[in-house]
Amino acid sequence: MQMIFQDLDAALNPKMCIRAILKEAIRVHHNVDGAEVDRKISELLEQVNLKESKLTNYPHELSGGEKRRVGIARALAPGARFLVADEPTSALDVSIQAQVINLLKDLQKNLGLSYLFISHDLRIVELVSHKVVVMYMGKIVEMGLANRIAEAPRHPYTHILWSSLVEKESKEASGTSSGSKSAGWGICDFERPYRGCRFAPQCPVYRRRGRPEICINHSTEPQLQDMGEAHKVACHFPL
Ligand code: SF4
Repeated sequence: MQMIFQDLDAALNPKMCIRAILKEAIRVHHNVDGAEVDRKISELLEQVNLKESKLTNYPHELSGGEKRRVGIARALAPGARFLVADEPTSALDVSIQAQVINLLKDLQKNLGLSYLFISHDLRIVELVSHKVVVMYMGKIVEMGLANRIAEAPRHPYTHILWSSLVEKESKEASGTSSGSKSAGWGICDFERPYRGCRFAPQCPVYRRRGRPEICINHSTEPQLQDMGEAHKVACHFPL
């Protein structure tokens, strides 16, 4: 298991060239000699589509997309089968994001990898995920197969998340996008957690149902319940 870190300026040693970074990752995990290390580095470069000439560069000399590829190569170096990818497309241009996503999908297919993919970008979540887990204020509120969650979310929070994505996409398509209408509603105070369901202060279902006590009672905080077909939701009034 290995990790693809979000902030590669912090995760890659600025005083090591790319060859040294990859070499270290290989040598720490495999007892191999110089020629074998070079062969392994060439293989990694090919897997992540990075030019051999970049090996003598230092991290600050690479573009955001290239640094991302180095981060992926370093995660692959020990022979990991399971990668935790923390916002692997953050701070990248849309075209570079697409390249990174395609690379991750190709690697998954060719090497049989599994990912735990952490993202705030629902478009990318929808694109790469087989199963989705939605968290709100540190708690899982819904989990299930990606297409089911996208098409028929049962938790009000997930529903709002995906509706705002659809709204954003249709505005972009019609050229009327002017930022997210829902930008302010999700802000919560982590220092002062609410009683019962954490989503209650923001929940339209809670308001529509006349603020039922069960939603804000400590002893009845909603737990994940099985909705069938591997779909689980933590809500007293699932949609
Ligand atoms: S438990 Fe109540 S407040 Fe929480 S999401 Fe469900 S309806 Fe809304």
